[in-house]
Amino acid sequence: MGECVYGMSKDFQGIGMTSQRARNRLVEQLQQMGVRSDRVLDVISTTPRHIFVDEALASRAYDNTALPIGHNQTISQPYIVARMTEALMYDGIPEKVLEIGTGCGYQTMILSRLVKQVYSIERIEALLYKARERFYALKARNISARHGDGNLGWPGNAPFDGIVVSAAPIGVPEKLLEQLAVNGRLVIPVGKSGGQELLLITRTEEGFEEKRLDSVSFVPMLKGVG
Ligand code: SAH
Repeated sequence: MGECVYGMSKDFQGIGMTSQRARNRLVEQLQQMGVRSDRVLDVISTTPRHIFVDEALASRAYDNTALPIGHNQTISQPYIVARMTEALMYDGIPEKVLEIGTGCGYQTMILSRLVKQVYSIERIEALLYKARERFYALKARNISARHGDGNLGWPGNAPFDGIVVSAAPIGVPEKLLEQLAVNGRLVIPVGKSGGQELLLITRTEEGFEEKRLDSVSFVPMLKGVG
């Protein structure tokens, strides 16, 4: 492994369209769009998104867009990753976070650099294996990722201080609410394609509070494993 600059191993820094300059430009765009958290912006500026997409798409890795990752799935738009992470961290940094829909692992990686422990569930095994290789290469040791149906959560490691869902169910899965700690936050897109909303649900002593964050467009959250 090479020398580290900006906290990133030289092997992953990239050149040209995948360089630090490209990441800085992306961060400027996110700031203009209203992302405020310096912590989140800093982690985005030092995480190599180009490692999480196919080599043929690497030159577009720092565009603020979703990109295909195979199996009919997409890597989420950086703005959405930033928004969701910011919403999760608004009240302080959660220790233990569950992510549903590992996909290529980019959101997982961002979370792993901000919180103590990340658990992530993916229903398509091939995507999970690739994501795990990236976590290993980038030396992220606080991620446990497994194959399964995220609708069921991960009861063995519950309760979670935060849950982030990267695919949209029609309604909020009951098990995810159950596995949220008191004061814990669930960030989840809900609804049919064409009419989804990103919700922030906070568990209180008495029940749950819900806030609408944005209109969004996610791939559907499916049932069972792929
Ligand atoms: N954060 C990921 C998003 C990938 S797209 C990224 O940026 O790459 C959403 C992912 O959710 C897909 O990989 C899809 O396979 C997964 N998914 C959909 N339904 C699921 C379910 N019930 N359980 C676990 N993962 C699911």
